[in-house]
Amino acid sequence: MTAAKEETSTPSTRDPLVQLRGVNKYFGEMHALKDINLTIGRGEVVVVIGPSGSGKSTLCRTINRLETISEGSITIDGEELPQEGKELARLRADVGMVFQSFNLFAHKTILENVTLGPMKVRRMKKAEAEQLAMQLLERVGVEAQAQKYPAQLSGGQQQRVAIARALAMEPKVMLFDEPTSALDPEMIKEVLDAMVSLAQGGMTMVVVTHEMGFARTAGDRVVFMADGEIVEENTPEEFFTHPRSDRAKDFLGKIL
Ligand code: ADP
Ligand code: MG
Repeated sequence: MTAAKEETSTPSTRDPLVQLRGVNKYFGEMHALKDINLTIGRGEVVVVIGPSGSGKSTLCRTINRLETISEGSITIDGEELPQEGKELARLRADVGMVFQSFNLFAHKTILENVTLGPMKVRRMKKAEAEQLAMQLLERVGVEAQAQKYPAQLSGGQQQRVAIARALAMEPKVMLFDEPTSALDPEMIKEVLDAMVSLAQGGMTMVVVTHEMGFARTAGDRVVFMADGEIVEENTPEEFFTHPRSDRAKDFLGKIL
C-alpha cells in the first residue's frame, strides 16, 4: 500500500523464473551452500563470481539437480524441482547447461551432437531436428562444421556447438559454468560473443565467469560468492567499481 513497503521489495520488476529459497547443501561435513536465497527474473542475466571453492559450480549443479539439495527449495517457473523421477527429467529439460569442458560426443558428428537430445527427449523427427540444429549452429557461427567430428574443431568452435546443443532442448534458463576458462585466449571472444547475443535475445542466464567484459556488456546483476554464501549482489558496474565487502575487495584485488 505504502511507499515504505515498495522500498523494501526487491528492485527487480521482472517476473521470477528461478527461485532458490533457503538452499543448503552439504557434502558430508562440508557445508558447500549456506542458506542461498536467489531469485532470477525472466530474461535476466546473472553473473556469478567468486574464489575457487566458493560453491559456484555447486550452485549451478543444484539448479538442474545434478546435485540434490540438503535443505530448501528450488522452483523453476513456479514448479518445485523434485529430487528424482520422471518429473525431474521433464523439468530438467527446462535448464540448459554448458560446462568448462565441452563434453561433446566424440564419435558423433556436430549435427548429430545437436539433434540427439531433441530426437530422444523431445521426440522430434530427424528432419525437423536437423533443421532446428542447423539454425542453432548458424546462430553460433559453426554451421559449416556440421558434418565434422568434435576433434576436428577448435575449442572455441566446440564450445559454441555445446551452446547450440543445449539450446536445442529449448530451455527456459541457461547455466554456464566457466565456459571460457579451458579455452585459448584467442577463442574466448567468439564464445563470449555468442553468449552476449543469446543474452540480447532475451534468454535467462546464470553465468559463472570472471570475464568482466561479459559481465559489464551482458550482465544485469553480479552475485559474489565466498565460502558457500552469497556475500554481495549488485549491478556489474557498481560491483566492479565499488565492492562493499572485504571479501569482494580482496578477490577483485587478485583478479583485476
Ligand atoms: P567453485 O565452483 O566455486 O570453485 P565448487 O562448487 O566446485 O566451488 O565447490 C564448493 C565446495 O564444495 C568446495 O570446497 C569443494 O571441494 C566441495 N565439493 C564440491 N563438489 C563436491 C563433491 N562432489 N564431494 C565433496 N565435496 C565437494
Ligand atoms: Mg567451479
